[in-house]
Amino acid sequence: MSRFDATVLLDPPAFPASGYAPLADRIARLLETRNDVLFVQAEAVVALEAVATSLATPALKALNIVTSPYGTLFGGWLRRGGATVTDLVAEPARPVTVEAVEAVLDAAEGIDVIALVHAESASGILNPLEAIAKRAKERGILLVVDAVASVGGHPVAVDALGIDIAVIGPQKALAGPAGISAVSVSKRAWALIDRPDAPVNSVLSLADQKRDWLDKGRGALPGTPPPLEFHALKAALDRIEAEGLETVLRRHARTAAQARAAVSDLGLTAFEAGERASNLVTTVVLPEGVEPDSLLVLEEVIRVELTAGVGPGSERLLRINHTGRRADEKTLRETLAVLAKALGQARA
Ligand SMILES: *Cc1c(COP(=O)(O)O)cnc(C)c1O
Repeated sequence: MSRFDATVLLDPPAFPASGYAPLADRIARLLETRNDVLFVQAEAVVALEAVATSLATPALKALNIVTSPYGTLFGGWLRRGGATVTDLVAEPARPVTVEAVEAVLDAAEGIDVIALVHAESASGILNPLEAIAKRAKERGILLVVDAVASVGGHPVAVDALGIDIAVIGPQKALAGPAGISAVSVSKRAWALIDRPDAPVNSVLSLADQKRDWLDKGRGALPGTPPPLEFHALKAALDRIEAEGLETVLRRHARTAAQARAAVSDLGLTAFEAGERASNLVTTVVLPEGVEPDSLLVLEEVIRVELTAGVGPGSERLLRINHTGRRADEKTLRETLAVLAKALGQARA
């Protein structure tokens, strides 16, 4: 890091106004969708806030699935906009079950929107998106998916699943920049968002994006879009397309399987496995007597991105990050060697 020459980032060439639409089209291909794709010129949490802010009205009834702090935030933004929100909070650090979703849908009348996170990088879980999407479709409910972590690590087939709004960020499995994010929006979702009383003149307004960019032919973006971020996004998409999305997905799946096999060889138990576990991180429960505080401050441990779980229920969880460029067998082996050494020291 100390040898990184940040001056190369200065004086970047402008990103051409004609370049945004092709980038949006390439993201649409990753998401297998014909829906509109918009950019939010900020990290993905801002895009999630923009979606909630743009959807929320006092007439809206939402089922908000909470499997990490992101879900809690999303419900809060919907409520701030006056929506009636039923939070379905899964067991701490565990995926939601489709039975629990069905029970809420049966009990609550007139749900308009279901919101959930696809894969959680905070705890490593994978929510049953396909099954929930099927229920949403059967009942004519709008579906909002936070696919920030999952895109590139799991298929996100927006049109096939009927996802009305998908939020993605390039900084996880796509190994791109963190300062720009994208949102796909279906016709049905636009009908709720692009209304006369929509919030406007705001970075959180998707209606602004429709009126000022989509409806004007997708040329220059309003404001001063960050050229570094757009050049980096383009480079990340170039690299993903050169490898091929299918190959990127397989690389994540294979590394996850290797990680799960390896942790049991170390005498550890993966916190989740099978279809409840994501391909992005493997979470293990720290053995009795090994304190996260003593392990997670070691320089080597930090270097290989072994980190604590995030959010309720994650206090004794250790995350092995195999997302993006880290979804690679050699990197994984190095990480596991550090883990084995650190555990040996902690137990000694
Ligand atoms: C990483 C992530 C985000 C975005 O968080 P950032 O603060 O932009 O990194 C949103 N949702 C999920 C599920 C994530 O994993």
